[in-house]
Amino acid sequence: MSDLFPETTPSLTPQNLPELDEWRNLKIDQQPTWHDHPDFKASINELNSVPPLVFAGEIDRMRKNLAEVAEGRAFFLQGGDCAETFAGATADRISGRIKTLLQMAVVLTYGASMPVVKMGRMAGQFSKPRSSDTETRNGVTLPSFRGEMVNGFDFTEESRVQDPKRMVQGYHTSASTLNLARSFTTGGFADLRLVNQWNKGFTSNPAHARYESLASEIDRALKFMEACGADFDALKTTELYTGHEGLLLDYERALTRIDSRTGRPYDTSGHFIWIGERTRGLDDAHVNFLSKVNNPIGVKLGPTTTVDEALTLIDKLDPEREPGRLTFITRMGASKIRENLPKLVEGVQNEGAKVVWVTDPMHGNTISVPSGYKTRKFDDVVDEVRGFFEVHEALGSFPGGIHVEMTGDDVAECLGGSDPIEEAAFADRYETLCDPRLNHQQSLEIAFLVAEYLSR
Ligand code: PEP
Ligand code: MN
Repeated sequence: MSDLFPETTPSLTPQNLPELDEWRNLKIDQQPTWHDHPDFKASINELNSVPPLVFAGEIDRMRKNLAEVAEGRAFFLQGGDCAETFAGATADRISGRIKTLLQMAVVLTYGASMPVVKMGRMAGQFSKPRSSDTETRNGVTLPSFRGEMVNGFDFTEESRVQDPKRMVQGYHTSASTLNLARSFTTGGFADLRLVNQWNKGFTSNPAHARYESLASEIDRALKFMEACGADFDALKTTELYTGHEGLLLDYERALTRIDSRTGRPYDTSGHFIWIGERTRGLDDAHVNFLSKVNNPIGVKLGPTTTVDEALTLIDKLDPEREPGRLTFITRMGASKIRENLPKLVEGVQNEGAKVVWVTDPMHGNTISVPSGYKTRKFDDVVDEVRGFFEVHEALGSFPGGIHVEMTGDDVAECLGGSDPIEEAAFADRYETLCDPRLNHQQSLEIAFLVAEYLSR
């Protein structure tokens, strides 16, 4: 079997690498309390035997692509929902998100004349850390919503019950999402010669118009190359990797497989797995588990991160100092990035380590408006992106990528933009189950801004 399918890894039992279970004896935060649930064992057994969602060879390729980012020769774009939903896994919605991501990538590739490594926050982004275990509304207290792989969003007792079978549903929803993503990116749609068509179906807006003129420029350039007899094979398909927060270790562990080529473990739930700001404790379960798998790993770093913490994370997660293995996703907040990021970058530089630096300009800029909605001001998002580029420029380090919560839908969740979203629109077009996302227009605007910095 391994000769026929060298990239598949289903054979070895999950028990045969004891280090993959060390995390079970460590402190672990933000987990469901469902281990005594009657369906827990059967759900885990099922996940132990399902096919991998992604293959070890693809994961290796992404790590190599990210090594190019670490060396300053490519840019890393990560985007998607804060929390995916089962009901949202429809062809229209998935394709809207993918199209928006591809459009952002085209703006960046063309603007920066640089390859872009693309990762959707999708096909697995179904579990969420919460600031409290419970939520109270009108005097009623229920367990918090922890993502659809754990419980339901509706504020009823029944919906908020933590159900391990949801992990299996999360796996299948991820599989169908990934299937559509793969056919989109390899089945002809992502052919760069169709770049003009990717705008179709979105509401027109200023960023949309700017995209249209860029797409025409690309179109002219491609026609010129075609007339010169250039070979277009490389332009016909693109690679879109998947990634999510590796929060639910029951799920991540159950989808971990041993690669028959190398005997090394890969978390096959997605290509790129990151550790959230709230679960990155140095001696805790998440850092331990993800230190054992061969995927490229990200860690979110908030404004309180110390240089020592960053260096210890490198020692634990990237002891070989392999460029592409470790990505630091900083999410400082617009008002703090210029003050807090330089010391981390310098500390890592002095250590001689090469990480990929990515900015998440979303999570440090979340506010609540009086009407109760969680939102972000587009200007704060822009300001954090600017701060990120300024800091890296001053220190001579490479600003490697951007991580955004976005959607292709015409939602009103973040305030502002060049065709400004106002709070009054929230009542009709606020759809996220968790954090507010950039809509199609705001996503393209951010891409144009980043392209300007990269082309300097
Ligand atoms: C997230 O990415 O949705 C998230 C919870 O981020 P952070 O860990 O940075 O707070
Ligand atoms: Mn979020």
